[in-house]
Amino acid sequence: MAKPKRESPPVPPAVPPAGGLGYLTAALEAPVSPAEAALRPLSFADFVGQPRTVERLQVMVGAAKRRGEALNHVLLSGPPGLGKTTLAFILGQELGRNVRVTSGPVIEKAGDLAGLLTNLEEGDLLFIDEIHRIPKAVEEYLYSAMEDFRLDIMIDQGPNARSVRLSIPRFTLVGATTRSGLLTAPLRSRFTLQTRLDYYDHATLDSIIRRSCGLLSIPVEPGGSGEIARRCRGTPRIANNLIHFVRDYAQERADGRVTQEVAARALELLEIDAAGLDEMDKRMLRVMAENYRGGPVGITTIAVAVGEEAETLEEVHEPFLIQEGYLQRTPQGRVLTPRGYQAVGLRPPSGEQGTLLRD
Ligand code: ADP
Repeated sequence: MAKPKRESPPVPPAVPPAGGLGYLTAALEAPVSPAEAALRPLSFADFVGQPRTVERLQVMVGAAKRRGEALNHVLLSGPPGLGKTTLAFILGQELGRNVRVTSGPVIEKAGDLAGLLTNLEEGDLLFIDEIHRIPKAVEEYLYSAMEDFRLDIMIDQGPNARSVRLSIPRFTLVGATTRSGLLTAPLRSRFTLQTRLDYYDHATLDSIIRRSCGLLSIPVEPGGSGEIARRCRGTPRIANNLIHFVRDYAQERADGRVTQEVAARALELLEIDAAGLDEMDKRMLRVMAENYRGGPVGITTIAVAVGEEAETLEEVHEPFLIQEGYLQRTPQGRVLTPRGYQAVGLRPPSGEQGTLLRD
C-alpha cells in the first residue's frame, strides 16, 4: 500500500523575504517555522479570539469526553494564518489524542488515504489542510471513511481487480480550508461542525502580540504592540512574524525596547503601511485604478498585470481588501472602492466606470 507522503507538521525553514513586495503575504505561504511553532497556543485557555468557534469546539470536546467517543468531524475555514492548524492541535491536546497532519494536495491516490487512515488509533485526529485540494477521485473514498469508518478500495487491475473492505478506527477528521466555497456539497455535509474563522480585531491582536513578546522576552510598550496590531492585517501569524523583525530593529536602531515609534519605523522599513497593506496589495489596487479605471475586472486579468497567481490573490490578498472596504466583488468582476483609490493616493474618476473585462 502506498505510504502517505507527509504525516507530520510541515517542516522549516521559513524565512520570508526581508521587506519589499509581498512581505506580509509571503509569510502566510511559508511553512511553519520553529519560531512560529514556539508561539502556538496549546490549549483553549491560551487561544484568544474567535469566541464563537472556540465555544462550539469546547461544547463538542466536552460532550465527546463525557460520552467517551471520538469527536465528530470538524471543518475550519478562513484565510491563512488565523489559527486553523493551531485549533486542530488544541483539539488533540484537550482530548488527549494524537493529531496526524497532512494536506489535500499530497493525498494523490486512494492508497495514500488508506495508508493514513489505517495507521490511526481509535479517537485520533486527522488534520487535512487545504482539504479543498483533495483530488475528486480520492474525495469519494472519504465519504464512507467519515460516515461508516470503512474504506472499499480496489486493488490490482484488469482481470485481477477486486474490491477490499478495510475497517478504520473511529477517528475525527479536522479539515481546514481557505476556500470553503470550493468544497463539494457531499463532503461538506459530512462535517458535523463547519465553522469560519474571521480576521482578528486590534484589541485581540494586541493581546496576542503581548503574549508572544512575553514568551520571547521582548520588552514592548503598549504603543508598540498597538502599532503592530494595526498593521498585521488582522492575522496572528503575520503579527508574530513582524514581532521578530521589530525586535531586531529595536536592538539595532534603538535601545531594544519596542515603543510605538520604533515599531512604526521598523514596519515602514518593510514597506507595510499604517493600514497594514503591503506592496502586493497596493499593486493590485493601483493596477485596477490605473489600467482598468476601477473595474469591474476579472481576477485573472489582475493576476497577470501584477505578476502573481490568481489563486494567491484570491486566498490571501482579496479577503482582507474586501473586508476592509478597498474593493468589492461583483458578478462582473472586482471593483475598486473610493477607499481603494485613496489607499494608493488616487482619486476615483467621476462618471462612468471602466470597461467590462471578464476572465
Ligand atoms: P492557519 O492554520 O489558519 O493558517 P495557524 O494555526 O498556523 O493558522 O496560525 C499561525 C500562527 O498564528 C500560530 O503559530 C500561532 O502562533 C498564531 N496564532 C493563531 N491564532 C492564534 C490565537 N488565537 N492566539 C494566539 N496565537 C495565534
